[in-house]
Amino acid sequence: MEFDRYHIWHPYTSVTKPIPVFPVVSAEGVRIKLADGSELVDGMASWWSAIHGYNRKELNEALQDQISSMSHVMFGGLTHKPAIDLCRKLVEIAPEPLQTVFLADSGSVSVEVSIKMAIQYWRSKGDERRKRLLTVRNGYHGDTIGAMAVCDPVNGMHGLFSGILLEHVFVDAPQCRFSDDWDEKYIEELAEALKEHHRDLVGIIMEPVVQGAGGMRFYSPAYIKRVRELCNEYGILLIFDEIATGFGRTGKMFACEHADICPDIMTVGKALTGGNMTLAATICTEEVSHTISDNGVFMHGPTFMGNPLACRVACASLDILATGEWKSQVARIEQGLKDGLNPCVGMSAVADVRVLGAIGVVELKEPVDMQVIQPRFVEEGIWVRPFGKLVYVMPPYIMNDDDLAFLCKGIRKIVAELS
Ligand SMILES: *Cc1c(COP(=O)(O)O)cnc(C)c1O
Repeated sequence: MEFDRYHIWHPYTSVTKPIPVFPVVSAEGVRIKLADGSELVDGMASWWSAIHGYNRKELNEALQDQISSMSHVMFGGLTHKPAIDLCRKLVEIAPEPLQTVFLADSGSVSVEVSIKMAIQYWRSKGDERRKRLLTVRNGYHGDTIGAMAVCDPVNGMHGLFSGILLEHVFVDAPQCRFSDDWDEKYIEELAEALKEHHRDLVGIIMEPVVQGAGGMRFYSPAYIKRVRELCNEYGILLIFDEIATGFGRTGKMFACEHADICPDIMTVGKALTGGNMTLAATICTEEVSHTISDNGVFMHGPTFMGNPLACRVACASLDILATGEWKSQVARIEQGLKDGLNPCVGMSAVADVRVLGAIGVVELKEPVDMQVIQPRFVEEGIWVRPFGKLVYVMPPYIMNDDDLAFLCKGIRKIVAELS
């Protein structure tokens, strides 16, 4: 722990003013076991990814079986069954127009790939003038330079990197809540911005229905329906980042299904391997892949592209999803989160409580002090990692009602203390 404190950077931390980290020795089901023997009920699914819980038998077996034949082989000029099986499954479950898969090593890379696809698409059509994307505020698309440039300018700390990031067109985050009746006023700013900038744009990028790390906001599916119509009207591409929302988290396999629409390019990651290996994918329409391919090659190819071990465990995770059990699990968790978190409404520290699918958010009026609050969650036996004003959970789909009630009770207790 002493070595960790002085030599290791954790996500978004200072090495001179570190916040507490807790040593983990194992994880099983929905429980994370710490070195001191205590167990935490996991509310985070390791950042949206461990949807089937930890140490899951079918996933372990897939990994072990794959290790014994080949852990890795380069994807340039070679191919293999785990990648073919995985891409077939992805094409099957993704909205029908999405037909071509690019395997990437992480979510951020899949976003970079989506942006490069959009740029190459237009260059292939002989239009080199288009350089920018349009996006909404409060978005999160990853930490690499290209992805950061489409993150929320404030949350994404564009100030820290001023002069470095490409300057895209931003409009306000969608203001209509998930169940609000649609009104055209909600899309006016975006429509105006498109009218002004569409000739410079390769496309629009956004997280459909749920904005994740940029604010944990849920908004009306009618909004993305209108965005799709406007993209069609101006002939520009629509990129949906489903890295957080994909694979059932919002109650649909993909969040764009809430609006019954399809993007031209879609990114997936996080839960793709059930939280076991890093892997992501960018899936596009034939219109996009053929336009690029008829005029050249798509210029991307990471060393560990299509890693067989990651592909194999992703197949096993998608097989579990294919049983369809996730639908009732997510619906049950949605109800449990509503029952468990709604009592926070009215507490003096609380600004808003919202639940959609297996995602629960308690938005506070003031940012939390991580030095104080993180150890309190651990004392209560739950793993919750807030950021800013947001205390939020997205548990593994397998969490039972008792563990869910325990998780919510711990959150209520700590939020009450803050009140
Ligand atoms: C987490 C996330 C990313 C970045 O994925 P990494 O695997 O962390 O690089 C991009 N977009 C969204 C919506 C995410 O939630």
